[in-house]
Amino acid sequence: MSHRKIERLCIVCRKRKSKEELIRIVRTPEGLVRVDPLKKLPGRGAYICSNMECIDKLKRENSLNYALKTKVNKEEFIKIKKELENLLERGDVKGESL
Ligand SMILES: [Zn+2]
Repeated sequence: MSHRKIERLCIVCRKRKSKEELIRIVRTPEGLVRVDPLKKLPGRGAYICSNMECIDKLKRENSLNYALKTKVNKEEFIKIKKELENLLERGDVKGESL
């Protein structure tokens, strides 16, 4: 009867949500940080709510650096944030079908 639900923590609001409500950001084995809308890329992942509120609140690199145990620079960070905003605008946030 228990339907297994995979929950992850949003790096901004620290709430647990199902993967469908989150966007994955990944640090690839090559050390690059990428937005991973299909949640398929290998590497260490971090999650953020797929809503403007949390994406707006992602203001500094620190939370990403902490979650991904890496160091993204300002430019990379701005690029990642832009990608997140674009994803939301396109409404192209797909959860993994379980
Ligand atoms: Zn959140």
